[in-house]
Amino acid sequence: MAELINDIIDGAISAGRTYLMENESKAILEELGISTTGSRVARSEEEAVEIFLSLASPVAMKVLSPEVVHKSDAGGVKLHLEGEDAVRQAYREMISAFQGRAVEGISVQRMAPPGIEAIVGVANDPTFGPVLMFGLGGVFVEVLKDVSFRSIPITLSDAQEMIEEIRGYTLLKGSRGHSADIEALEELLMKISDFVASEPRVWEMDLNPVFLYPQGCTAVDARIILGEPRPSPPEEREEQDLHDLFYPQSIAVIGASGTPGKLGWNVFTNLVSHKFKGMLYPINPRAEAIHGIKAYPRISAVPEPVDVAIILVSADMTADVVEECCQCGVRYIVVESAGFAELGPEGKKIELQMKEIADRYGVRLLGPNCSGIINTHCSMVQSIGIVDALSQGNIGLVSQAGVCAAGMLWGLRHIMDFGIIATIGNKLDINETDIMEAVSRDENINVICMYLESVKGGRRFIDQARRITREKPMVVLKSGRTEAGKKAVASHTASLAGNDQIYSAVFRQSGIIRARDYEHMFNLARAISKQPLPDREGVFIITYAGSLGVIAADAITDNGMRLSELDEPLKQRLKELLPDYVCGMNPVDYTFSQDARIVKSTIEIGVDSIDVGSFIVILQAEILDSYVEALKSINYQGKPIIACVAGKEFEMPGVIKMEKAGIPVFSTPEQVADALGVMYQQHKRITRARGKD
Ligand code: ADP
Ligand code: MG
Repeated sequence: MAELINDIIDGAISAGRTYLMENESKAILEELGISTTGSRVARSEEEAVEIFLSLASPVAMKVLSPEVVHKSDAGGVKLHLEGEDAVRQAYREMISAFQGRAVEGISVQRMAPPGIEAIVGVANDPTFGPVLMFGLGGVFVEVLKDVSFRSIPITLSDAQEMIEEIRGYTLLKGSRGHSADIEALEELLMKISDFVASEPRVWEMDLNPVFLYPQGCTAVDARIILGEPRPSPPEEREEQDLHDLFYPQSIAVIGASGTPGKLGWNVFTNLVSHKFKGMLYPINPRAEAIHGIKAYPRISAVPEPVDVAIILVSADMTADVVEECCQCGVRYIVVESAGFAELGPEGKKIELQMKEIADRYGVRLLGPNCSGIINTHCSMVQSIGIVDALSQGNIGLVSQAGVCAAGMLWGLRHIMDFGIIATIGNKLDINETDIMEAVSRDENINVICMYLESVKGGRRFIDQARRITREKPMVVLKSGRTEAGKKAVASHTASLAGNDQIYSAVFRQSGIIRARDYEHMFNLARAISKQPLPDREGVFIITYAGSLGVIAADAITDNGMRLSELDEPLKQRLKELLPDYVCGMNPVDYTFSQDARIVKSTIEIGVDSIDVGSFIVILQAEILDSYVEALKSINYQGKPIIACVAGKEFEMPGVIKMEKAGIPVFSTPEQVADALGVMYQQHKRITRARGKD
């Protein structure tokens, strides 16, 4: 098999072509076991007739020319030819129409019976490499861009999800007499993925259209774009768990300062004031001691081994300092100084120097241009900005930008508890994938939150995230969504493969929850870190305001959930609680008589109901305080609860108490429903993924 494919590709390359014509592309597909309408080539009128007679079917005829890429646009496609005369005439017309152009011949092929038109394609993404696309053809792809993507190689469940994800899926499943052989389609997607994974010279493909039938499917047109062999993914580094970067025994701060206001003062003060549980060595040639801790003139003067060195000296000095750290056995280097690749080629040069040195010694380097790591579980705060008291938590935050991490901490620390906050800066050596792997292995961390501007790990990012999200939810905010100038592309697929679509697809493929914005990311992380995932779709809503209850009911439906139904005995129990003027059972609307006692009793009824998977409680801001103890004392038996408090911004002391009691407080019913919906989807996904093990 490989031989014929090789010959075709080699032949095109030696003819100086960067793409394969329809007959060549189809010959490859046939070789892969993919059905096509055929690829025989006539070089004379007689040959055309011969092929026509041997096919015993109406035929389509198409011009084959290295100069004609879009055949029908150029008038190079003739359809429904049923007799010998029609074939002869079509042949003559095409040859004369393309006179003066390099025509290889005329393809004579079976007319495919009408089916649902689909498009299957491959594009090449600069970050993730080859990606597979699927969508419905015609207006669906032209106007609606109803397509789905996955990074290659795909699994069978990826293929299934790609097909189910498009809006036109209903049409494929069967509606108005149409239906498609989904299994055959899955098989086609798998074959294309396997082929591209094993053939690095293929850059883009268009199977456009593929006709889908109730039984089987057929590629009617095919085009393959060739390129320089794609580089194979870099060798995996030796397993390095980065554990001691997060839990060091000793830290040296090079550039620590005793002068308030300097960054070197901030970082060292953070380490001291949070009572880091290890040795601290300030390095400063002009200081005897900083914060009462003996200082050393240089790292080589420290008599004991140093696990982590934080570098804060100016960019032009860092390469030398990195070398000195490596020489004296430092294991991890955190470069918090800025002024590198983010400024231009000079800075980039220093970065490359630092990388070369670190690699030579096998030392791992975080940054530059970052704000270090916070690990509340070993009281370590390396931040550049002064950080106030933190509580230990189970959220791991990975942030590309240091300011993002530090800026939000000031307020968010009151309502959410972080375990680790790692900033990665320019990702010279340790990248987002390394960090997310390390953080995911930490037993103190249950949820991973990431702010990213780019991904360096490529396919490894997908594979790792996919593994991690089976155990720990990941919420990612990826910025830089607007596209910076579209490049010229040869295939239809590549023109549809926008960078942001690919990120969304890759996140889906990895089980990552993509946050819409900053607030969404922290809302989701807050809810997931404090509450279990709902394991059924029924939601029980308790409210003091009818309108908010109705909005919540609408919003849960929009998020793939529904109102739960109580069975008879529980309805009776609830009726006994309800004042006369309350009639609804879900949402239960207690109006302004709602208080802690009645909410608690109502929730307890919901806990006993098999149809209740989660709770939304809509509480009065002005008496929020009075609910805290009651809600805290309930045994929820694994069912999540989220509170909605309109105007919560003006009642922060109550909100903080509620949050500290483990109950997330959001300001609108839509936000609550969105979070519960995401959590329920996450539950379903994990259950499905684990079932496939
Ligand atoms: P182009 O290079 O313009 O994409 P195609 O080979 O896709 O040329 O032909 C254009 C259209 O003609 C297809 O989208 C399809 O609808 C129809 N067509 C082409 N070949 C066949 C065939 N063998 N059987 C049925 N329809 C065909
Ligand atoms: Mg086509």
